[in-house]
Amino acid sequence: MDIAEIFGSEVFNESVMKERLPKETFNALKKTIRRGAPLDITLANPIANAMKDWAISKGATHFTHWFQPMNNITAEKHDSFISPTDDGHAIMEFSGKELIKGESDASSFPSGGLRDTCEARGYTAWDPTSPAFVKDATLCIPTVFCSYNGDALDKKTPTLRSMEALSAEALRVLRLFGNYTAKRVITTVGPEQEYFLVDKKYFDKREDLIYCGRTLFGVPAPKGQEMDDHYYGTLKPRVREFMRDLDLELWKLGVYSKTEHNEAAPAQHEMAPIFSNTNIAVDHNQLIMEMMKKVAPRHGLVCLLNEKPYAGINGSGKHNNWSMSTDTGINLLDPGKTPAENAQFLLFLAAVIKAVDDYQGLLRASVASASNDNRLGAGEAPPAIVSIFLGDELEAILDAVENDAAYKDPKAHKLQLGVDALPDFPQDNTDRNRTSPFAFTGNKFEFRMLGSMASVADPNIVLNTVVAETLKKFADELEKADDFNKAVNTLVKNTIKDHKRIIFNGNSYSEEWKQEAKERGLAVLPTTVDAIPELIKKENMDVFINNKVYKESEILSRYEVAIDNYSKTVNIEARTAIDMVNKQYIPAVAAYVSKLAEGVTYKNQISKVIKCDAEIALITRLSDLLSVMHTRVLELSDLRKSASALSGFAEAKMFCFKVLPCLNALRAVVDEAETITSSEYWPVPSYGDLIFRV
Ligand code: ADP
Ligand code: MG
Repeated sequence: MDIAEIFGSEVFNESVMKERLPKETFNALKKTIRRGAPLDITLANPIANAMKDWAISKGATHFTHWFQPMNNITAEKHDSFISPTDDGHAIMEFSGKELIKGESDASSFPSGGLRDTCEARGYTAWDPTSPAFVKDATLCIPTVFCSYNGDALDKKTPTLRSMEALSAEALRVLRLFGNYTAKRVITTVGPEQEYFLVDKKYFDKREDLIYCGRTLFGVPAPKGQEMDDHYYGTLKPRVREFMRDLDLELWKLGVYSKTEHNEAAPAQHEMAPIFSNTNIAVDHNQLIMEMMKKVAPRHGLVCLLNEKPYAGINGSGKHNNWSMSTDTGINLLDPGKTPAENAQFLLFLAAVIKAVDDYQGLLRASVASASNDNRLGAGEAPPAIVSIFLGDELEAILDAVENDAAYKDPKAHKLQLGVDALPDFPQDNTDRNRTSPFAFTGNKFEFRMLGSMASVADPNIVLNTVVAETLKKFADELEKADDFNKAVNTLVKNTIKDHKRIIFNGNSYSEEWKQEAKERGLAVLPTTVDAIPELIKKENMDVFINNKVYKESEILSRYEVAIDNYSKTVNIEARTAIDMVNKQYIPAVAAYVSKLAEGVTYKNQISKVIKCDAEIALITRLSDLLSVMHTRVLELSDLRKSASALSGFAEAKMFCFKVLPCLNALRAVVDEAETITSSEYWPVPSYGDLIFRV
């Protein structure tokens, strides 16, 4: 197999464009892709035509605008290339108009009130900066999605806007450092994706996995992850075949799938691509999740992307590796070797520190979902408190800057900021603090609170926007300064002084940290219901509006969608739990009790001497559990109905603080019953089956 040949074979990438487009058209398009220059609309026809011919050569018969509504998945509406001819035949056609703009009925996508129901039209518009590709015999064209009024109904539009905002402000700062060559600053993202695999035949027997993507019941297997024998362990043959297959599919689509290994929990795995610009990384992460789901059944498996499929073992997240880089290839979070580079690095670092501190609530909100609530703070993933890990060296340097003190290091050279500083940074300190939600890892930050199932767009939109805002403030101040070096020095110093409460190098999983974080005045927002209101705080709305990332109406709609999505998720979980208890668990336990009782009666008939103590004790215990199960399921059913009768935030609050605790209490009884019921009678596969029989 020639991987170099296969890689990107289904992508309308630069080399295909070069081969198939007239030279001027190709050059213009390249300028748009590289620099974001507006594209001359008259070029759309030749591009569309070349795309169509290429797609047909790849076996495509249809095309679709491929977009990302506000629900974490992608949407497609397929049209065939077919066009009738006068003589009753058909030709394959695709116009520039069809490439650039599409119209679709948007009424069934989440809009958070942005679109009146009578105005159901939604528009999609081509994003030439993300390459088109062929998937399932369909030419997929990445597009933005907006309403009739031009309000963004998707995740791509704000992603692109946030990248623009950051680029503009970062360039202002770079100019002050004498950099006139960079034309753009690009944010880069490499999202590591965690997931579970489960045997399809067991999955099919669990309603909770089918409807909710996570188990609502189940006793931990006798063995869990305590032996640490899964992390980086040898891959099981079936899993390895799945990964190979997945890689191949992703490579064809131009996704640089790079690293794959077993994760901490049994049946849990991770895949990391090579980083790219944020827009592409967001698109590719969607393709990665889609392909994982699609490839698994070919191997008799199902891929679970939910953040917490199983209680008692680690959940899945995404590690969002993030940095800023010039179009000339300079990573702005790379400390560099010379004093001047160091000063610039420290300024950008200070900007990130300030941004994360000022907008910690927004960052928390950007990763909030019902399913991620089950993972964050469970002692295996970062807590629901944002803090930054810098590592000892960097913190010592910042201390020195703050106090005008010398940083003692034998290899140090003079820093432009007026302190002796900068050892060679160990580039790879990634794993030195795995508990931090936001860790500096040598030349990038790793934001670890993201859920495994959600699009990576939201946290990156926030990150880009708040760093843009901070750089804007920095640039405003520095542009006025008479003595630039002195001004940089003061700015870095003051920023560290004002924002060091957000820096924490210790164990973020510990209970003490929760207490300390409160004392430091950091935002502690344990649930989605606590976090989502951050979106509509005045200062948070302002940062989006001022940087032209969201209009007010667009933020309000995202708030509505998040709240609505939360309530819907918990509602489905409650309904599934009620169904499973009424139709599976209660009948199963009752049947087992009857069987035991039958035995007691039978033995009694043979001889009154046989006491049947064990059976009777078991019958009594199980009967008690049955009656509690019955009471709780009724209670859950009532609570669920009352919650559903509410709307908006009140509904979400009731689902969070009333329905979920009741569901968990119901789970506790069912789980106890599972421990003493014959497995022959237990109606669903056990945790052991799900986790250890992959
Ligand atoms: P590990 O976390 O396993 O030590 P790396 O730190 O090399 O591995 O990379 C983890 C992820 O970070 C990869 O997806 C990688 O492509 C990405 N990454 C590396 N450099 C950058 C960067 N400058 N910006 C964004 N992501 C990056
Ligand atoms: Mg990592």
